[in-house]
Amino acid sequence: MSIFYDDDVIKKLHIELTNACNSKCPLCVRTNSPAVEKIKHLTLDDIKKINFENLHHILLCGNFGDPILCPEIYEICDYIIQKGICLHIKTNGGMRDKKFWYDFGKLFSKKNIKERGLPYPDERVGKWNYHKVTFDIDGLEDTNHIYRIGTDFKKIKENAQSFIDGGGLAGWEWLVFKHNQHQIMEARDLAIRMGFYNFSIKKTRSRGRMKKAIKEGHDLNIKNITEKVIDIRGNMYNLDRWIRDDEEIPVKCKGSDRKQIFISCEGDMFPCCWWGGAYTNDEFNIKKSMVPSLINFDNNIRTNTWDNIIKKYSSKKDEMKTNFENRCIEECNEACGKKRTSSVTSLIHLYKRDGKPRNKQRRKFALYGLTQ
Ligand code: SF4
Ligand code: SF4
Repeated sequence: MSIFYDDDVIKKLHIELTNACNSKCPLCVRTNSPAVEKIKHLTLDDIKKINFENLHHILLCGNFGDPILCPEIYEICDYIIQKGICLHIKTNGGMRDKKFWYDFGKLFSKKNIKERGLPYPDERVGKWNYHKVTFDIDGLEDTNHIYRIGTDFKKIKENAQSFIDGGGLAGWEWLVFKHNQHQIMEARDLAIRMGFYNFSIKKTRSRGRMKKAIKEGHDLNIKNITEKVIDIRGNMYNLDRWIRDDEEIPVKCKGSDRKQIFISCEGDMFPCCWWGGAYTNDEFNIKKSMVPSLINFDNNIRTNTWDNIIKKYSSKKDEMKTNFENRCIEECNEACGKKRTSSVTSLIHLYKRDGKPRNKQRRKFALYGLTQ
């Protein structure tokens, strides 16, 4: 069932496999958080406690760590892939070696999965019909480390290439800052040459943390971004439109809309990753605002069952409805109670600085994906 709105089933699961990371991105909730003093991971045994029956899509990402650093990442992915559930991972790509990434690419390869006699997600319904690893690379050799502090672009490039060579489908997601905006086209061309499946750009939403990071001396300006992009629908706009003021609207629970639930690296189940992150770091005073009335039960998958936990959350529907209507929970207001311009433009096409579109071939790549 979908926990806060209707009685439909949960189809999407977001899992935080670990709170370990090799980077220190200035806008990340993990950076300088006391929550990561002790490193924690989920295990394959924890994953086996999930009720996979109705799941169509699993995202391995989270708030406090990079999933590839989970010691059992390979085994866990193999287990999910065997179930034919669409698997999507997000990583900075800077850890482990070429051999790991080549083997990981093989594990994700459709051809290999078919040869193993396993189901591929395109045999299931819906739009979630392929396994993919998205590499979060926000620059080239001279710029990526400005945000992805501590990572090495050459190693990331080598790892991504090994994954692609092994047969895996790779995406490239680029967080735009003033310091990297001029390299977007170059990066997209590199993505095409390397065999990435798609390339997308994204803006940051971390306004609060942005102010703090700039004060601390990080050069992360997103003001005065002058490049223009065209989105997948063909609308052209300036990237600086992304940073316009947000407009307050009634809270509409994205977690429920997406029929999604979240599991933290400690095994706690939350309606969404925003609650998971805020609860762990106790942002917005969320523990006081949610506990005891909203999480007054054992929400841990290690000690309670998946079905019990979802039933418990569902029993809070009416209370949550009132909370949403009255904008009682600050994290919900922030995440789901504001109208924003879209944070991701997929498969972009850049206009030239004089406003003229680039050639048709590039437009084709932009509108239909890099591989077509
Ligand atoms: S790579 Fe991801 S988890 Fe690691 S510090 Fe950066 S944003 Fe946070
Ligand atoms: S932040 Fe609140 S409203 Fe948004 S998905 Fe999470 S629980 Fe739902």
